[in-house]
Amino acid sequence: MSDSARLPAPPTVHLVGAGPGSPDLLTLRAVRAIAQAQLILCDDLVDPEVLAHRAPDCRVLMVGKRGGCPSADQRFIHGVMVREAKAGTRVVRLKGGDPFVFGRGGEECDALRAAGIAVEVVPGLTAGIAGPAAIGVPVTDRRHAPGVALITGHAREGGREPDWAALVASGLTLVIYMGVARCADLAARVMAAGMRANMPAAVVSAAHTPQQRHARCTLGTLAATVVAQGLASPAVIVLGEVAALGADALLQFDEPEAPTLLTSAA
Ligand code: SAH
Repeated sequence: MSDSARLPAPPTVHLVGAGPGSPDLLTLRAVRAIAQAQLILCDDLVDPEVLAHRAPDCRVLMVGKRGGCPSADQRFIHGVMVREAKAGTRVVRLKGGDPFVFGRGGEECDALRAAGIAVEVVPGLTAGIAGPAAIGVPVTDRRHAPGVALITGHAREGGREPDWAALVASGLTLVIYMGVARCADLAARVMAAGMRANMPAAVVSAAHTPQQRHARCTLGTLAATVVAQGLASPAVIVLGEVAALGADALLQFDEPEAPTLLTSAA
């Protein structure tokens, strides 16, 4: 037996994506990790039903910004994970969507690895793809866009404002997370960067939850639409030709020529 084979396995923390909302959009691997956990550190955007997969004696620490936990800053979260994992606790860090898409998963991995703790990442469905899909918007439809850019609308989150001119010139579908509260400013920046005001836009709020709502509009009417329809966080904004695709968009366009119902004559 080699020396390395005799070494005990390092403690491992599972960084688990819970998907965009609906508990049945969890992966089987996520369910398994949750069921085996002894401690779960959980974000706000995770549906309580997801936690129903945990063992009866599993402790849950709500560490989201709205979790009512005053010390839930990143250092606190890192500290708890490191301490518990080193003590032999099976720790799951549960995050909405995918842990590596605007979830600070990278920072948490770094902190854990620096403390000698292994990390296993369980990917989840990210809101920027699954949210538009909930209203039939295919973000990379090749007839309309060569790809998609996932962008934070929260300037502090990314550390700096993205290069909107480069993004607009790329022709990519733009999917903006954390942007509804600031959408008037965002729309103005994107238009100043060269995107036409009548570019199709869509907003999906609380996708894949019972509270799901959405609106379709254009870049120029985005801010007014968000206010008029009261679309609030969590929401994703889609900018690009693909935002006009999807079942309700087609219904709207087809209305004048709605097919006649075929019924047998009485
Ligand atoms: N890791 C997550 C994103 C975390 S950032 C993921 O991969 O999806 C939080 C932002 O994600 C929210 O402000 C919102 O923009 C988006 N979001 C998360 N859940 C959402 C949902 N159910 N519907 C629409 N947007 C959602």
